[in-house]
Amino acid sequence: KKHACCGFSRLMTTKLHLTPFLRLSRRSPLAAPGLSCVSRAASNAPPARVSRLFQPCNLREGQDAGDMTCRSQRLMLQGGLLHPSSPGCFHYLPGAVRSVEKLVRLVDREMRGVGGQKLDMPALCAAEPWKRSGRWGLMGKEMFRLRDRHGTDYCLGPTHEEAVTELLASQGGLSYKQLPLLLYQVTRKFRDEQKPKFGLLRGREFYMKDMYSFDVDKDAAQHTYQSVCEAYGRLFDQLGLRWVQVQADTGNIGGTLSHEFHLPADIGEDRLQVCGNCGFAANVETLSPGRADCPRCESSSLVESKGIEVGHTFYLGTKYSSVFNATFINAQNKPEVAEMGCFGLGVSRILAAAIEVLSSDDAIRWPSFLAPYQVCVLPPKRGSKTGQLTSLAEELAHSLGSGLSNLRGEVVLDDRTQMTIGKRLKDAARLGYPYVVVVGPRAAEELPQFEVVCQNSGETLFLSREALVDMLSRVETV
Ligand code: ATP
Ligand code: MG
Repeated sequence: KKHACCGFSRLMTTKLHLTPFLRLSRRSPLAAPGLSCVSRAASNAPPARVSRLFQPCNLREGQDAGDMTCRSQRLMLQGGLLHPSSPGCFHYLPGAVRSVEKLVRLVDREMRGVGGQKLDMPALCAAEPWKRSGRWGLMGKEMFRLRDRHGTDYCLGPTHEEAVTELLASQGGLSYKQLPLLLYQVTRKFRDEQKPKFGLLRGREFYMKDMYSFDVDKDAAQHTYQSVCEAYGRLFDQLGLRWVQVQADTGNIGGTLSHEFHLPADIGEDRLQVCGNCGFAANVETLSPGRADCPRCESSSLVESKGIEVGHTFYLGTKYSSVFNATFINAQNKPEVAEMGCFGLGVSRILAAAIEVLSSDDAIRWPSFLAPYQVCVLPPKRGSKTGQLTSLAEELAHSLGSGLSNLRGEVVLDDRTQMTIGKRLKDAARLGYPYVVVVGPRAAEELPQFEVVCQNSGETLFLSREALVDMLSRVETV
């Protein structure tokens, strides 16, 4: 709850400087004619109507989702964001897809910022490269394996070090001038987890952003490593999430340097030690058992907490590039094996983890950027004294969702006017639209006022139409 507030106030302060320019430039008559045609067409689309959204409620209030459940899973089932399919697999319903797409756009921004180029590798992966790296055996039961009609072994990709390194090796002769090369994708990964649980937090099919870096030498690779870690930090900051970067174990991915990014949370499955004195932070897996003092400053200020692992970075050295002979041509015109890093972000896990840490037991709170819709407009109940305000509400929803470039496609109209405003307000609170605009009796007065519930800050404001438009024009969207 606290973090949601931070997100809101950050939005109010930083956005002030940014939007006026953005809005001007997008609406300016100087904008390229082709572009403005596109946006005008899109801007005429009417707002989505709640009565038409496919948002089936998969859990009645008070009903339990079973023993593998947690707050985010319950809220996502109740809110019609997810529908269970098989253990650890879910249908992402339209609201969840909107949110994942926003998260992916934020991730894309950060990955491009560090020079990443997006590609998309097959999920169906031949066994042969995995046998070459030795991981066909190492992955054990966690790997989904299958065989084609010719009897050739495949797996559903749990991660793609082999695939990308082989891809790079097939290009041979990349010049040192073309490095660093950073390739990434956002795709579904498959892991036959022993205990899929907590909804999207531990699925058997989930979205991961995985980036792979190729550098000329160790120094350059470590520089790349740093810059990607910084990009991860910026991403979590933009989401308004409290996060910690800890020293980590390299597991079966391998390599010599590794960090995890965690969101502190009681349901987290990792145990972390953070030093209150020097800031040292580690997954306990990396510390010698029974150790009570900080390995860096030797103070006794280590505090244990639990965390949800949302990202993991590895410096790999030449572990994979030497196996697949992924080389570049160095300044002396000789082939040399590339230095690699790999960088994972649990995209679907981040979504659930954010809901987990920001929400209350009965109401979703989103990182401001990730709400499926930013604004919900509530017309009065059908047949009530203020019934004539229905068309005002419709017109308002339409004009906000088409007139404000930041809110294009971000406004819904809760047209279930057979229900009272109170009941719909309760629903809106449960679903967590950051802004709920009620077109109630005060909108019929001579100087119409709209009631605006800012759910992330908990404030309720009464605003004139101009003030409402002004406030909403500052909402940052992606
Ligand atoms: P964990 O220890 O939680 O099983 P991992 O260390 O095996 O995860 P990595 O191989 O580091 O996972 O994968 C990169 C990222 O993908 C993780 O940091 C996590 O955010 C995400 N991830 C891994 N497994 C799952 C899963 N089963 N469901 C959802 N996200 C996952
Ligand atoms: Mg990991």
